[in-house]
Amino acid sequence: MIKVCKFGGTSMANGINMERIAGIIGQDSSRKFIVVSAPGKRFGGDSKITDLLYETQKEVEQSGTVGKAFEKVAARFERIVDELHLAFDIGSVLRETAAAIEREKSPDFTASRGEYLAARIMAELLGVPFLEAGDVIFFRGGRLDAQRTYEALGAAMKACGRAVIPGFYGSDETGAVRTFSRGGSDITGAVAARAVGADLYENWTDVSGFLACDPRIVPSPVGIRELSYRELRELSYMGANVMHSESIFPVREADIPIQIKNTFRPEDEGTAILPTVPLSSRTVTGIAGREHFSVIYLEKSLMNEEIGFAGKVLRILADHAISFEHMPSGIDTMSFVIDSDFLKDGVWETLKREITEAVRPDRIDLISDIALIAVVGHGMTRSVGTSARLFAAIANAGVNVRMIDQGSSELNIIVGVDNRNYARTVCAVYDEFFRSDAPVPLS
Ligand code: ADP
Ligand code: ASP
Ligand code: MG
Repeated sequence: MIKVCKFGGTSMANGINMERIAGIIGQDSSRKFIVVSAPGKRFGGDSKITDLLYETQKEVEQSGTVGKAFEKVAARFERIVDELHLAFDIGSVLRETAAAIEREKSPDFTASRGEYLAARIMAELLGVPFLEAGDVIFFRGGRLDAQRTYEALGAAMKACGRAVIPGFYGSDETGAVRTFSRGGSDITGAVAARAVGADLYENWTDVSGFLACDPRIVPSPVGIRELSYRELRELSYMGANVMHSESIFPVREADIPIQIKNTFRPEDEGTAILPTVPLSSRTVTGIAGREHFSVIYLEKSLMNEEIGFAGKVLRILADHAISFEHMPSGIDTMSFVIDSDFLKDGVWETLKREITEAVRPDRIDLISDIALIAVVGHGMTRSVGTSARLFAAIANAGVNVRMIDQGSSELNIIVGVDNRNYARTVCAVYDEFFRSDAPVPLS
């Protein structure tokens, strides 16, 4: 039995937490491979090491040398080594790191040093080999080179038998360090699980598994005991950031189950993520959402008969490297839901002009400040009246629905509301589907 265990930022935040991790690893000899994040926040208002490193990068760009932000990084790591009473010369590793950051002048390299240093310390603490991610995780054209990575990483892991691997980064075609997007240590864990053919990918975090909605919006939501890969993908993509939404792909290919566990309550069962799950009595599995979207709305009589209408608009979006999230459409209407960040700095005005020239719509509008809320669950297709319950709950909360998209997967319904109504809508939907059904608390 081989388990790959990934520990997130809060789990790695200080020496005491790292001792906890050592205890968790010591309890189960199948926990052979450990992937770590950089230390996160220890308390509200504290800084994440990765954020301090991005600040360090700005300092280097401005003055050529590391400054105050890196001093904070160094102090955090020195303190961790002290708390752990390790005979590890962190001072000289930090000096080498500062010099390398100044030499490389690369944002990805600088950001990756949190995971690098954390993994070096964890390897010392556990007495387990450190496996350098830059030597075994490869990017090509800005994306993970999966096949090359699985071969190299799998061989290295098998040769070590046990290892601590820094999360979040690998190297590109030129050998330079390259990071995944934020939260990407989850992807490293999944890639490692796939490379070694693990029996289980344990993702250790600071909550007892996946909750039915964001605990920062609804206090103490019920826990989800089992999720399918597809439900996880929908929920995490739509903002339930317990796990990075891309971390599903490597493990799904090999049917490797994921168990989400709480470092601070290891006895809690957590959430199992499986290829398929037995249909539960619950209609909705979970709710997730994200704010700050915009909707481009197009109307044109007989649009349905105009061949290539959507294609022309999509080409314009692609030419501006803009991806869209959803495309709800009617007979003579079409909308594109886009992350508002894409439309800043005059981009909307340009798009409006180009789209108007290309397809001559009767109407083209931009609806801004939209939040999307996804209601996800395999059970929704079986239950009559799910949409009626959903929209009645939102209406009763006094919220106006600006957009609806029922995914063709029939696994989700996505509702757009004004940003300012986001939390209120999530609470109303949660109350409808979870407070009226019998809750299934996590043990
Ligand atoms: P880590 O540092 O371990 O990677 P993250 O901060 O990335 O942890 O993810 C865990 C956090 O995700 C939780 O502390 C919680 O605030 C947040 N979160 C958002 N939505 C959910 C949800 N549906 N269930 C559980 N946690 C959620
Ligand atoms: N440390 C990185 C971040 O803060 C990666 C991770 O924690 O997964 O985004
Ligand atoms: Mg995370």
